[in-house]
Amino acid sequence: SHLDPRTRDLVERRARSLGSAYRLFYRTPLEFVRGEGAHLFTADGTDYLDAYNNVPSVGHAHPRVAAAIAEQAARLSTHTRYLSRATVDYAEDLLGTFPAHLGNVMFTCTGSEANDLALRIVRAATGRRGVIVTENAYHGVTTEVAALSPSLVGADAVADWVRVVPAPTPGTDFAAAVAAAIDSLDAAGIGLGCLIVDTIFASDGVLPDAPGLAAAARAAQAAGGLLVADEVQPGFGRLGDGLWGFDRHGLVPDLVTLGKPMGNGYPVAAVVARPELVDAFAARGRYFNTFGGNTVAIAAAQATLDVVREEGLVARAARLGAVLAEGLRAIGGSVVEVRGCGLFLGVQLGDEGTAREAVNALEERRILIGASGLRNDTLKVRPPLALSDADAERLLDGLAAVLG
Ligand code: PMP
Repeated sequence: SHLDPRTRDLVERRARSLGSAYRLFYRTPLEFVRGEGAHLFTADGTDYLDAYNNVPSVGHAHPRVAAAIAEQAARLSTHTRYLSRATVDYAEDLLGTFPAHLGNVMFTCTGSEANDLALRIVRAATGRRGVIVTENAYHGVTTEVAALSPSLVGADAVADWVRVVPAPTPGTDFAAAVAAAIDSLDAAGIGLGCLIVDTIFASDGVLPDAPGLAAAARAAQAAGGLLVADEVQPGFGRLGDGLWGFDRHGLVPDLVTLGKPMGNGYPVAAVVARPELVDAFAARGRYFNTFGGNTVAIAAAQATLDVVREEGLVARAARLGAVLAEGLRAIGGSVVEVRGCGLFLGVQLGDEGTAREAVNALEERRILIGASGLRNDTLKVRPPLALSDADAERLLDGLAAVLG
């Protein structure tokens, strides 16, 4: 093996204990021991620039978030069945960032749970099971949500209540595809519960413009279906033009799901919804999630939201995202197209092999990046919003050297 004995031993022990369903990145797997800003460090102090991880959005190990978690954990960790002033304060603060019709928030631990709960609310409120998703969508891992995630189970293996439509790229008629899917669900006697979209279409290859999306959403809502905006990846300011991705498309979602960057790495996620939908769900039973929105999760979420605002990270995402997009477009070479907004960019390359080589070549330059898209041919540039100007320059230099 090409691995040093200590690494090889850890890889083997990991495989024995965690089993075969997990994957590691890179031929020589990386072991980080510390993070700061947009940087990750190995035990020998080697500095990797992180352009992959969107969860530690305000920066790896942000001191303010770490302190909020530590202080609350040292005082009290309890669930949502006791009164908690901080929880209500955070709920009001968060809801204040949404349009007024989205008046309730329910807490979960993961984005998958948030989408699963959204689906249950949709079904309770509409009485219909059908769901429309895009071709390579990923919405999570619970049994129901996996069954509507073609990128996970394959477009042919989604549940019989799911209709898969091509993602909204230029040249596709997204609204017509959604209308046909609504007809198909009706014809099958299933009916439309909701259209669910990741508002940046991360796993469909990063599609910031999404032509036809607003018209398709209106058609779905006119047909009695609900619109679920999955903001698990784009949310909390990454797109650089406000906190939420649905705004840039002019969408009026009925439910919004949140996760990943919400607690900067502490597990906290949520469903934001019209109160009347939550009422329809509540009429059938209660909701309790043991860890969802516990007092420590809320402390993490509040500190994260405070830092996003106080450090002006939405504006930073816009500014550095524009610098990166312009620099990427100037590279030429194997770059076919640069899409995206804020610090969520997709760099379309010729094919999957070129993208895979670029990911590995960048790792040799100590830059972490990933690939996505239906054909895995698009580099996904998605660094923590704590990226500095110098980091952006280093990232561009690396990308230019590898792709130019
Ligand atoms: N929705 C989207 C758009 C996602 O990207 C993900 C995670 N990759 C999820 C939902 C699921 O979130 P989690 O992994 O926290 O369950």
